[in-house]
Amino acid sequence: MTLHQDPIKRRGLMLILSSPSGAGKTTLTRDLLQDTSLDLTLSISVTTRLRRTSEVDGIHYYFKQKSEFDRLRAADDLLEYADVHGNSYGTPREPVEKVLSQGRDMLFDIDYQGTQQVQKRAPHDVVTIFILPPSIRELRARLERRAEDEAEVIAKRLVNARNEITRWPIYDYVIVNEDIQTALAEVKSILIAERLKRARSAQGINAFVEKLLREG
Ligand code: 5GP
Repeated sequence: MTLHQDPIKRRGLMLILSSPSGAGKTTLTRDLLQDTSLDLTLSISVTTRLRRTSEVDGIHYYFKQKSEFDRLRAADDLLEYADVHGNSYGTPREPVEKVLSQGRDMLFDIDYQGTQQVQKRAPHDVVTIFILPPSIRELRARLERRAEDEAEVIAKRLVNARNEITRWPIYDYVIVNEDIQTALAEVKSILIAERLKRARSAQGINAFVEKLLREG
């Protein structure tokens, strides 16, 4: 398949999705990646968390020992990192730089601490979306339905969710995920509009307009 080439060249952007666990971000991420017309690349994080049975190393995360995680961090190989629910998580820097330099966009599923770090490092190239659950009752039901975590882990995630929910003010956009199809359409609309922002492609527009004006 040949990918559609935009007539105007632009820098790639970083699309960050954050939410408390159970707000539906994983489903949204999966659906966004399945839509190949969006040409999004997922940033695969490194984590010291134990692998869930449904997860595959190198697809969902790179599962690492703490010593290896600390080595990556010390070598400045991580674009951002944070401790979440008692485990360390971080974004490998190199794949991000590669994708963005190709004028393509990267999707991140990271928490508010990582979001703040990326916003500081690359304020013009980052678009942030916060996903809220419709209710705490629904959040709990989704966590329990997942049933992959121990009861103790679920309880910890619920406590953390209340803290995470208060972090919405640092995000550019906030979506309440009542219905996954609606939320998906909202994320896509944001992405499409952000791609068209003049500031992201001033040079590309200039080149395109010059070419237009040279036409007979
Ligand atoms: P989980 O353990 O459920 O996969 O993820 C727990 C939380 O860690 C989620 O809120 C997720 O967004 C966050 N997270 C996953 N990877 C990263 C990362 O590389 N950096 C940061 N800061 N948070 C991450």
